[in-house]
Amino acid sequence: MKIKTFEDFLSDEHAKQYSGLDDDMVDNFDNWVANLGVDDVIEYANECIEQTIKEYQEKIKKGKICLKCGAEKEDDNSVFCNKCLKKNK
Ligand SMILES: [Zn+2]
Repeated sequence: MKIKTFEDFLSDEHAKQYSGLDDDMVDNFDNWVANLGVDDVIEYANECIEQTIKEYQEKIKKGKICLKCGAEKEDDNSVFCNKCLKKNK
């Protein structure tokens, strides 16, 4: 499954409080990250992990995660993804 990276998470957090021009956003983001304190980073990291776990749990509940390799899958007929099913044969 696609897991949001910590950078993706920070980018979202930055976007929430950014009000400048789109063209300046990347530079502004780099600046913003460079000025984060250690405590800020720890707090964001915790939030990021919590969010990721919640999303993962939701997908497991909905049967969207292969129980063998952890990959995201579309097929609901099996608890394993197609790749793992093929290996088992
Ligand atoms: Zn699998």
